[in-house]
Amino acid sequence: MISVKVLRRVSTIFLFSSIFLIPIFLLEFIVGILFKSYILIADSYHTLIDFLISLLFYFTLVKINTRSRRFPWGLYNLESLVILATSIFIVYLSVNLILSMFDSSTTFSISPWYSIILFVSSIYSLTLYFIQRRYAEIQIVKNDMVHSFLDTIAEVVSGITLIVQNTVLIDVVTLSIITFTLSDVFREIKDSVLSILGASIDSPMKFQLINELRSKNIPILNLYLKRCGSFYAVYAYIGLSKDISLEKAYKIKRKTKRIIKKYDNIACVDVILVPLTEIKKKKILEQVNALYSG
Ligand SMILES: [Zn+2]
Repeated sequence: MISVKVLRRVSTIFLFSSIFLIPIFLLEFIVGILFKSYILIADSYHTLIDFLISLLFYFTLVKINTRSRRFPWGLYNLESLVILATSIFIVYLSVNLILSMFDSSTTFSISPWYSIILFVSSIYSLTLYFIQRRYAEIQIVKNDMVHSFLDTIAEVVSGITLIVQNTVLIDVVTLSIITFTLSDVFREIKDSVLSILGASIDSPMKFQLINELRSKNIPILNLYLKRCGSFYAVYAYIGLSKDISLEKAYKIKRKTKRIIKKYDNIACVDVILVPLTEIKKKKILEQVNALYSG
């Protein structure tokens, strides 16, 4: 389980990392527009999405688990809604950039010295990568770690391209930055739509949870995992004998909740108790064993 203290600290890191991205975005965008450098414009859009994502992570980690009378399960899907909105905006910006690339035939030369902006940006991404590595236990940070590392490489390549000044190379690099960004964005869109619609997901965690519950002698019949932004809602179905006492049933329910809550990023746990005859219970548990053993 992630402590509130660690969540606060990580959210502060995301806040500062987003603030540092503002001057980088402005520099890239203004210089990119002035010198018609598509590499800088493309990277500025990327910096913009990074800024929004960092800011979103900050709010996510601080606000999202605040429960209220109106939102007793927290605001976890707020994250999905914001990601969906920002993603659509980024797709629009990227398409616009591709269209303008084919539109104009005139290219202005840009001084190779401006590649410094890209190298500064890559050093920043690498620093962020090393900071995030310390908090890799949090899933959101782990996801963003891969992203920071890829950013570092992409920015170094872009910087070198700017020095080399080859039009074909520049177009290729610009398009690959956009492709890389869009593939990220489409994954985010897919995840947030599935999250909002409440799709059941078969992540490795589902199998881990079922196997741990089985090893602790909890008669688990089925388990559903639903994504809530970066977090999960778990629905566990437990088979109990028809004549079990209410006290015993409650104890099993509490034990199940405790085991599941040990896992990272669990927003809420619902344990559903299913009364069964001994024969039926045995039959279903054998099926579960066959499905999840090994
Ligand atoms: Zn990025």
